[in-house]
Amino acid sequence: MNYKSTRGLAPQMNVCQAIIKGIASDKGLYVPESFPKLDADWSRLSKLSYKEFAQEVLAPYLPEFSAQELKACIDGAYDGKYSAKEIVPVVKAGGAYFLELYHGPTAAFKDMALQLMPRLLTESIRKEGEEKTVVILVSTSGDTGTAALKGFENVPGTQIVVFFPDGAVSPVQEQQMRTASGSNAHVFSIMGNFDDAQTTQKQILNDPELAEKMAAKGYTFSAANSMNVGRLLPQIVYYVWGYAQLVARGAVKAGDPVNICVPSGNFGNILSAYYAKQMGVPVGRLICASNKNKVLTDFINTGVYDANREFYITNSPSMDILISSNLERLLYHLAGGDPAEVRSLMDQLADCGKYTVGDQVKKGLDALFSAGYADEAEIESAIGKLYKDEHYLMDTHTAVGYKVWKDYAEKTGDRTPALIASTASPYKFAASIAESIGLEQGADPFETIELLNKETGAPVPEGLKNLKARKVIHKEAIKRQDMKQRVAQLLGL
Ligand SMILES: *Cc1c(COP(=O)(O)O)cnc(C)c1O
Repeated sequence: MNYKSTRGLAPQMNVCQAIIKGIASDKGLYVPESFPKLDADWSRLSKLSYKEFAQEVLAPYLPEFSAQELKACIDGAYDGKYSAKEIVPVVKAGGAYFLELYHGPTAAFKDMALQLMPRLLTESIRKEGEEKTVVILVSTSGDTGTAALKGFENVPGTQIVVFFPDGAVSPVQEQQMRTASGSNAHVFSIMGNFDDAQTTQKQILNDPELAEKMAAKGYTFSAANSMNVGRLLPQIVYYVWGYAQLVARGAVKAGDPVNICVPSGNFGNILSAYYAKQMGVPVGRLICASNKNKVLTDFINTGVYDANREFYITNSPSMDILISSNLERLLYHLAGGDPAEVRSLMDQLADCGKYTVGDQVKKGLDALFSAGYADEAEIESAIGKLYKDEHYLMDTHTAVGYKVWKDYAEKTGDRTPALIASTASPYKFAASIAESIGLEQGADPFETIELLNKETGAPVPEGLKNLKARKVIHKEAIKRQDMKQRVAQLLGL
């Protein structure tokens, strides 16, 4: 199994090299050269545990790993880290099935991949015989940063540097990041939005002068964002798992389709659902849900990607994104693996913030994807109503998915059973949730968590307990133009 760059000008790599590298040297993203086919015996699959699923789904993508090596990584990632015994529970509410991906250490779905990816990375470094210290750069709209800091906490041979947009993450996310206590952790807020952080991060990762200085000191860069294929692969597992759970409980007949709705930002999570379909999971429609930053909705409905628009800070901050990196991978696949077409579109995006896809890609989109969006008032009312009706509590991001799926089902009359990716614990966005269900706010977000707990009786995730009392270690706010220099400084370059 080789991995190719979407832009076709960087060398092919095996999975270890692709995970270490993070992003290709031609600025493209690594994709698997083919999609392994699942043994779709659903009556057998539906009896496997989550970890057994992970082994089965991931093995063909990681041929360099022996079964034992992969098992050790999976055990390390999921044993004792999850508050739900199934790891990913599937819960029926509001006429849909919620794939609850947030029961890990930092209470958002990013843990699913970021607990496993550091283990794959360190194993890859060992296999490739690299002696270097890997410097993981992360730009985050909130949850990737918290999950990456946890996943890489004190991992030998790594340094982790996180940039988040100042004032644009939730207070809980900010406190999680600023109190990260790993000896290899470095955290900065930057004056700018997420797209600024991600764009500068990509420049740093591809800076030849910096790379030279790094090499001389025994460092190499990697990325823990969903640009890294090591993030995407673990996310495929839970869509296969989700389908098998629906078969096991008789909600679908093996082989019949389910729709999958994913609240999306950087397009990594829904891309993994697309990969699950390519592997043989019977998926009807992939429904891409956006908040008020609805660049993806417009793209899927028209074939025109236009990032030249107002940027909003919303109550689903992890989806406040206008440049969705992983769309590049989908374009590559839908264009039949044509890197020249991807290069042309990505050049237009860099030059004028806009591109229009050709007929083949548009046809591919129409055949599989639907899209919609929800604004803040719609999000809050969806949360309030489902809680009142069924005592089921969603976070703001998940509510975007639920609302968009409901609109889709009403508009089309499509009654196919639906899985909705539930991407964060409601406690992570406690203030918005309290407001949505008509609960009084506490004096600060941490007290609101307590009040929410009293009202709903749902346990507070371990990672969010006692947050307020933790020591703030990382206080720096920097300019976007200073990101590179700050990285050089902390590595002593
Ligand atoms: C990151 C995130 C998303 C968006 O996922 P992408 O893979 O970036 O599309 C949605 N919800 C939550 C809670 C997140 O943390």
